[in-house]
Amino acid sequence: MTNLTARTVGFKPRERNVFFHILTACNLSCRHCYINPAQHGTATLSLETMENWLRLFLDPARETNLIFLGGEPTLHPDLAAGIKTARQLGYRSVTVDSNGFLFHNLLERVTPGEAVISFSLDGPTAKINDPIRGQGVFAACTANISKAAAMGFDVSLIYTVSRMNIEHLHLMPALLKDLGVRRFFIQVIGIRGKSAGFTRDNLQLTPEEWLSVIPAVAQKAAALGIHVIFPKVFLAAGEEFACAGRVAENYFIFPNGRVYQCPLCEDFPVHAFTIQDNRLVKNTGLTEDRFFTLDIPEGCVINKLLQPGNLRYDDQGNPLYRISCCLLKQEMGSD
Ligand code: SF4
Ligand code: SF4
Repeated sequence: MTNLTARTVGFKPRERNVFFHILTACNLSCRHCYINPAQHGTATLSLETMENWLRLFLDPARETNLIFLGGEPTLHPDLAAGIKTARQLGYRSVTVDSNGFLFHNLLERVTPGEAVISFSLDGPTAKINDPIRGQGVFAACTANISKAAAMGFDVSLIYTVSRMNIEHLHLMPALLKDLGVRRFFIQVIGIRGKSAGFTRDNLQLTPEEWLSVIPAVAQKAAALGIHVIFPKVFLAAGEEFACAGRVAENYFIFPNGRVYQCPLCEDFPVHAFTIQDNRLVKNTGLTEDRFFTLDIPEGCVINKLLQPGNLRYDDQGNPLYRISCCLLKQEMGSD
């Protein structure tokens, strides 16, 4: 039965998620791109390095999920080989996050059982999507979504919500149903990469905007049989705050060897680890994990440092709500 009530998905203590940026190059130039070459470099990993790092991050004692990212990961000529290696090593799930162009005939080089294909669209029509992601992107992406679904791939879609496209989000569930998408990730725009260059007013959403639109659209999609996942963002009174950096195992790996535990920190050289000679080395000094241990009434410490504009206070200076960890999700649906 389809569940139309949002459930908070707590962090799973014995689960590891590996977000692996194998290159930073991309064929697109999205307005809100979070890739920051000054911090993440411009390298493309060799297949040998990719496989060594896959071995480094697999913990046989844990269920380990792998997400291949870029830039555009399908620009990497050895992505298919990397997917097969990951499967052989024992990664529980492998997902490719693509902008929809699927270079190097990816769908012909891996089987539906080997990888989930996750596409990104930021509008239900070319008129909304293409000014954000690029001319012709809507047509190319939706054609490949249909093709992947018809070939039997498990297909999901990410929609990054901002002031540019929130009013069109409600049209997405019907489109996704038509395209054969099984999972819908509604993402909140972050202040990283290029987004950091916009003012808050023209991109970021207020709590009222987020809460008035997102749960209702999620319900609509769930009613169509689509599994919906969206960030918690605002904690209600009495809800527990937890920092994933303290209680979960997430690694955000960049081709210059930086490894972060918190995606909000990716614009700064505060990464907790560096890969050196195929070993994971803990960094010293002012690293992100120093912040994870601070308990503050506003919830997420890094949010307060980087995005204080989304906090509000009463006359006594008490926060009106807490911001959850950006990795805490809610889900709706029957998957
Ligand atoms: S597809 Fe992704 S990596 Fe490429 S420009 Fe857009 S947001 Fe950046
Ligand atoms: S987003 Fe905030 S709560 Fe989540 S890992 Fe980063 S610092 Fe911790």
